[in-house]
Amino acid sequence: MLDKVLIANRGEIALRVLRACKELDIKTVAVHSVADKDLMHVRLSDESVCIGPASPTDSYLNIPSIISAMEVTDADAVHPGYGFLAENADFAEQVENSGFTFIGPTAETIRLMGDKVSAIKVMLAAGVPTVPGSNGPLDDNKDRTLALAKEIRYPVIIKAAAGGGGRGMRVVHTEAALLKAVYVTQAEAKSFFGSGVVYLEKFLENPRHVEIQVIGDGQGNAIHLGDRDCSLQRRHQKVLEEAPAPGIPDEIREQVAATCVKACKNMKYRGAGTLEFLYQDEQFFFIEMNTRVQVEHPVTEMVTGVDIVKEQLRIASGKPLSISQEEVVISGHAIECRINAEDPATFLPCPGKVKMFHAPGGPGVRVDSHLYSGYTVPPYYDSLIAKLITHGKNRSQALVRMKIALDELLIDGIRSNIPLHRELVRDAEFQHGGVNIHYLEHKLARH
Ligand code: ADP
Repeated sequence: MLDKVLIANRGEIALRVLRACKELDIKTVAVHSVADKDLMHVRLSDESVCIGPASPTDSYLNIPSIISAMEVTDADAVHPGYGFLAENADFAEQVENSGFTFIGPTAETIRLMGDKVSAIKVMLAAGVPTVPGSNGPLDDNKDRTLALAKEIRYPVIIKAAAGGGGRGMRVVHTEAALLKAVYVTQAEAKSFFGSGVVYLEKFLENPRHVEIQVIGDGQGNAIHLGDRDCSLQRRHQKVLEEAPAPGIPDEIREQVAATCVKACKNMKYRGAGTLEFLYQDEQFFFIEMNTRVQVEHPVTEMVTGVDIVKEQLRIASGKPLSISQEEVVISGHAIECRINAEDPATFLPCPGKVKMFHAPGGPGVRVDSHLYSGYTVPPYYDSLIAKLITHGKNRSQALVRMKIALDELLIDGIRSNIPLHRELVRDAEFQHGGVNIHYLEHKLARH
């Protein structure tokens, strides 16, 4: 097993990784910015190193600083969490070239999946269903582009191969607007992402966001841990997630998951990953793969009993997966609410001092949070301050437990989106299950 892991992240995920390391008897190094010396995991880690000023570019994204901290503390491996450097292939490469272990896929895999066009090619080869489209970069052949869009029928969407964070996409409704949209998206992609490669897909109008959690050992063995529904989003940011995705026929979900496993086996995928799909009219359409642990991983942990972070640490230690596909059983239902330090009406970030923090409890309740009474949420980073997760023997029990837990949860001193979650769990259509990715924005527009 690894001896010492450096956690190159902050907030709740840094604490989550620290807890998994402790369970496995792995020593921990916390790295933090000047603004983050009071973070909970910094207090609980075996060692800590300040890696730079508050600005993320100078600290959590500062590759030389992080690698120096690994050298100074003699760590064996780095866990990148999510965000920051988690999907930075150059970071993974430099870590490995410096003689350390990157807890995640190889730099080559991160690069392959980071380019959406090459990711689609890998998925097609494994039989993963993709969105009808160009399945490759658009070239200068205007007639071919026009013919393709006509064939798959409008609306279509032009997407940057190197895009991310919901940027570099343009929806086109008519033939007259197509070529100009391609040109503009290419130009934007070139300036945002350094690559002007774009591709074309059918634009799905009312899809749900459903994703499949996978884990591979890097040797060619891989399993899936079922699916999650993350359709409740605002500005492409997930707000509430659940597992399993409600109302999907079992044979459809099993079939798509099997193709995901095949893709992972084919690329000898190492570590935890997620294949994201749009789901519409009982069909799955692959959109992209995330090569890291995700914010919403706890809902999968609750329904499978598999500790995904411990699995990542085991794989990075060179061990095989601790469970086989046959041993993965989905038990009950889990829901996660992302609690953000933001104004419930304007959604603007609300950093500041937490006067009082009280976490809910009881059967089937989990809170992943770095908050404590007296902690000051700094203004420099993502506004996620807690994840509230409930598990029940079925969806209605998980929902009831979430209602109770949200009523118990107390964060005093700063504003948060708890009121929004309280409203959401009481929303009739959400309670029914299976709302699409536009549901939350439409609901908020009615406010
Ligand atoms: P990013 O890497 O920027 O998150 P994605 O490919 O995951 O890009 O797409 C982000 C979001 O854009 C999706 O969650 C979905 O809401 C929308 N989207 C992307 N492709 C399509 C499509 N073909 N049809 C409809 N919506 C899409």
